[in-house]
Amino acid sequence: MEKGRTRVDLFEYQARDLFAKHGVPVLAGEVIDTPEAAREATERLGGRSVVKAQVKVGGRGKAGGVKLAGTPDEAVARATDILGMDIKGHTVHKVMIAETAPEIAEEYYVSYLLDRTNRTFLAMASVAGGMDIEEVAATTPEKLAKVPVDANEGVSLEKAREIVAQAKFPADVAEQVAEVMVTLWKTFVAEDALLVEVNPLAKVADGRVIALDGKVSLDDNADFRQPDHEDLVDHAAANPLEAAAKAKGLNYVKLDGQVGIIGNGAGLVMSTLDVVAYAGENHGGVKPANFLDIGGGASAEVMANGLEIILGDPDVKSVFVNVFGGITACDEVAKGIVQALELLKEKGEDVTKPLVVRLDGNNAELGRKILSDANHPLVQRVDTMDGAADKAAELAAAK
Ligand code: GDP
Ligand code: MN
Repeated sequence: MEKGRTRVDLFEYQARDLFAKHGVPVLAGEVIDTPEAAREATERLGGRSVVKAQVKVGGRGKAGGVKLAGTPDEAVARATDILGMDIKGHTVHKVMIAETAPEIAEEYYVSYLLDRTNRTFLAMASVAGGMDIEEVAATTPEKLAKVPVDANEGVSLEKAREIVAQAKFPADVAEQVAEVMVTLWKTFVAEDALLVEVNPLAKVADGRVIALDGKVSLDDNADFRQPDHEDLVDHAAANPLEAAAKAKGLNYVKLDGQVGIIGNGAGLVMSTLDVVAYAGENHGGVKPANFLDIGGGASAEVMANGLEIILGDPDVKSVFVNVFGGITACDEVAKGIVQALELLKEKGEDVTKPLVVRLDGNNAELGRKILSDANHPLVQRVDTMDGAADKAAELAAAK
């Protein structure tokens, strides 16, 4: 799992799924990523649907990212419009095809969040929902009830009624909203969330109260007890290189320097990062660009995959391949590097970045000979780890 995140913002459809799991009333919905899939999804919903852009930004409705479709054909047309649309700098790659709500009579707002300043949890509720809640808070703060929630006491039905009363919900929906507040609190606690928000919580024509849009942020410090949450992380958006590496089964972490690193064994790669950072101090402060451990039995293919990821990183100016031959002997690794460069050339990849290779350990002499014989113009051999790190840093700085 990636380090350094603390907050994982979910898409609306993921929030909807969590709400459904914990009993918050929602409408049926499914996520799709091609226009044609909107047809069957809409048919499953009885021929009508709401087509909703899935982007992690509010105000989709106003931006044209939420459209009603009266027929399956219309759903395909709306999905065609919305997929690929740019909403406040976010490209729409997925849409949710949702069941249409009966006519909306009123729109409310409810949420729970971690209130760091006051070291407590906070319930917020308003009968002025549907719109931007920051605006409500700024212009008509009296319409936004804020009620602290004690972590140990949580939200009982009684506490929920107190929140609802403070927000002055109409009597005809008060009990339903209170029940939503209880199930929403269950979601918040069970999922280790930092925020759960429903906007709008709609009162519809038949009198029901339904969560029509949801926002959830999870606390990734709780990942150890939330194994299912890994599936909710949008790796592709977090880092395209990491997503590509993951797809190839590589143990890769993007860092913010200029020297690409490949090594075998996590311990060796970790110390390579240190040595390169240290060497970089003498070369204008260049730093390692990534962590990549190709493991024990590194074949030519694995080496090619690793090199492809690293050379595809625009930040990388030079590459340091640091291998200590063990189970896989150095001659195998050397053949792997030579073949990898050939493979990349065959794939039409224009390799222009210099590689510094240090081989040591099992069959090092033979491995070095293979590299020397191959005489690749971009590959330099340096036989000590410190020397190779210095060379790689120097080449990165020169670029
Ligand atoms: P946001 O603009 O990103 O917050 O997206 P929402 O999901 O909140 O949708 C914006 C607005 O579209 C809502 O406030 C509703 O008025 C409307 N809307 C959302 N879902 C439905 C639905 O199922 N039926 C109808 N008629 N309107 C909907
Ligand atoms: Mn909304």
